[in-house]
Amino acid sequence: MAKIAMKNPVVEMDGDEMTRVLWQWIKEDLICPYVDLKTEYYDLGLVHRDETNDQVTVDAANANKKYKVGVKCATITPNAQRVEEYKLKQMWKSPNGTIRRILDGTVFRAPILAKGITPYIPGWKKPIVLARHAYGDVYAGVETQVKQGGKAYLVVEDSEGKAVEKLLVQDFKNSDGIVQAVHNLDKSIESFARSCFNYALDVKMPLWFATKDTISKKYDHHFKDIFAHIYETEYKAKFEEAGIEYMYTLIDDAVARIVRSEGGILWACKNYDGDVMSDMVATAYGSLGLMTSVLVSPDGNYEFEAAHGTVTRHYYKHLKGEETSTNSVATIFAWTGALKKRGELDNTPELVEFAKRLEQATVRTIEEGEMTGDLVPLFHAEGITPKKLESRTFLKAVAKRM
Ligand code: NAP
Ligand code: MG
Repeated sequence: MAKIAMKNPVVEMDGDEMTRVLWQWIKEDLICPYVDLKTEYYDLGLVHRDETNDQVTVDAANANKKYKVGVKCATITPNAQRVEEYKLKQMWKSPNGTIRRILDGTVFRAPILAKGITPYIPGWKKPIVLARHAYGDVYAGVETQVKQGGKAYLVVEDSEGKAVEKLLVQDFKNSDGIVQAVHNLDKSIESFARSCFNYALDVKMPLWFATKDTISKKYDHHFKDIFAHIYETEYKAKFEEAGIEYMYTLIDDAVARIVRSEGGILWACKNYDGDVMSDMVATAYGSLGLMTSVLVSPDGNYEFEAAHGTVTRHYYKHLKGEETSTNSVATIFAWTGALKKRGELDNTPELVEFAKRLEQATVRTIEEGEMTGDLVPLFHAEGITPKKLESRTFLKAVAKRM
């Protein structure tokens, strides 16, 4: 059988620990037998990041900008213990943070559904994709404790340092208390909005956006206005053509509607709401091993990955020669997401078709009762007893269905 040819490369970012092991096996067992794989390879494993003083991460992000499509393996974000373990020159920053800064993107997290794995909210039949604005608000907040009472003000100066506005936050009188100031930038909110509108069109899902604008009449209202303006002027016609809608509502109303919904919604959240709600949504769908993540920039660059980390505990078992049962599904879907996008951009439908086929074979493997250990307790289907497979055996079971 002739292998499927690729016109342009995908930027391949290798990673660490157990996911680095799976990475190699996925390529060997599921991709390279069928595709003449063209990648521009960057080794983001911690050892090589340290050797290159983290330049490799910057180079990979720039390559992702050049080629538009990247696929990334999970990587270690070093902490003090990792600095010691890997004898690092310094505590390098999170690669995901670096890539996000360079691509200026929004992260979309989407669950993979398989029959038999019932979400904790059983009404959810379709994926809920969560888009979190990753800039500002309380994550870039300034705050202090007020110890001797007195007054706190919010002061805005112009570029010459002249106060243009001074608002009393609170007259604490003789009380102790706390005070906080947060900010955001129009530019960042605009690019968040465009990323969300583009993604919704891409996957043909309705988009919901919610804030607390009834209470926050200037701050949250500004988010609402920016989304509305961009929608009206740039996206309304495209949404109508695609047969999807954009809805704005209050955050508490959105939460209630999400729980009652059957899924199939792209949910855009402000930074804090997204932080909290993404953990709720991910947990409710079942396992971290079934959650994918894609970084989309407003100018159309895509970086695909699994939402989980490097699964350290499994890696140390693997190093000791013990069997592991690590879920590779989200990493497989990172590859299929990237190949599908590559195929769409390059107009190579056979590559898109291959990626879809691999996704179907993966899901079918689980639905027919063959899965990794994390999924076994979640699986309930009449007449099928779930079988726990070792990491590579699962990949072979998928390959058999290919
Ligand atoms: P983790 O690697 O996601 O693993 C946490 C636990 O979740 C695992 O020990 C395992 O539970 C379970 N798990 C996660 N993914 C799984 C999978 N695919 N199959 C089966 N079980 C899975 O998170 P972590 O332990 O907090 O972090 C480990 C390293 O990953 C850290 O160095 C961190 O910096 C890095 N990290 C990277 C990314 C990224 O690159 N995007 C994201 C998060 C964390 P059991 O042990 O109970 O089986
Ligand atoms: Mg969180």
